[in-house]
Amino acid sequence: MMRSAVRALAGAGLLLLLGAGSALAADDYTLPFSNPDVQLSYGIDRDPTRCRQLDWTGQVWNDCASHPGRAYDNHTGIDYPMGLQSAVVAARDGTVVGLFEGYGTEEFGSAGNYVRVRHADGRDSLYYHLAQGGVLVGINQKVYAGQQIARSGCSGICYGAHLHFELDRLVGSVWQPSDPMAERRWTTWPGRVPYLASVVRESNSGTEVIRRYQTVTHWVEFRNLGGRAWRPDISLGRLLLVTYDPPLHASAFAAADWPSSTVATPVDAGPIGPNGIGRYTFGLRGGPPPGTYRESFNLLANSVAWFDHGRIGNYYVPIVISNFSP
Ligand SMILES: [Zn+2]
Repeated sequence: MMRSAVRALAGAGLLLLLGAGSALAADDYTLPFSNPDVQLSYGIDRDPTRCRQLDWTGQVWNDCASHPGRAYDNHTGIDYPMGLQSAVVAARDGTVVGLFEGYGTEEFGSAGNYVRVRHADGRDSLYYHLAQGGVLVGINQKVYAGQQIARSGCSGICYGAHLHFELDRLVGSVWQPSDPMAERRWTTWPGRVPYLASVVRESNSGTEVIRRYQTVTHWVEFRNLGGRAWRPDISLGRLLLVTYDPPLHASAFAAADWPSSTVATPVDAGPIGPNGIGRYTFGLRGGPPPGTYRESFNLLANSVAWFDHGRIGNYYVPIVISNFSP
């Protein structure tokens, strides 16, 4: 068994917009930053007509005004306010096909400093208003979803430090903005953080009785309450179940199937999109002397972020090591 209180946060508004969980989406892009506290200030206006606006929710305005949290007229990307020099990460695996870094960090001008990444689905992601010296990649460089590629700034047409993220696709011979929110390529609905989980269930009611030097197989399922897909198969952003308390401590229960003495397993299969359930299967070996133990675990987006341990709810497996054959 385990204590899996998904605390506070779930209650508060986080799940409000997830009711349409059935409309699970492509979910093939990750958010272009790692800080879970970043929220959008303006999304895309999906209607190119001047002074007519259509936001990602389907709301229409016949005006030229700004609508905080939603859209402003002819906005082609999504604005994410963040402090200068914040980490900007690639939204999907791809290749850098364009960049510019001629502006000062807060120098007003046209496009400002930016990076352009080409993806396998024919879309290009663009990251604007970067800091001076904030372009951390080169042309033709391969990048991975979740990899830091830049530092944010306020260069170009910028009235306050933010990242302007844009996802363009070729329509005919013209690059046009597409809306990852309307297409539900990721979940950036206000309030949803990139990485969050709750325990769904686990094998053997959670408690394992293990004969000394024997190995049993245990599994646990988590629901993905965050906005990013969980992937087992890439290094950056790969979702791992790791030992915890203290973080990344070597486990006395590490079985032969563990990638290391601190990493129990990646998610069994993926990607696991928002609201999906991912199973983690791993061995527990009766290494220590007979007695009663518990082993704590946490989820780690490899090289990107720890899950908030408090929010996951102190997940652990009670373990009884026995000398006796059943
Ligand atoms: Zn913008």
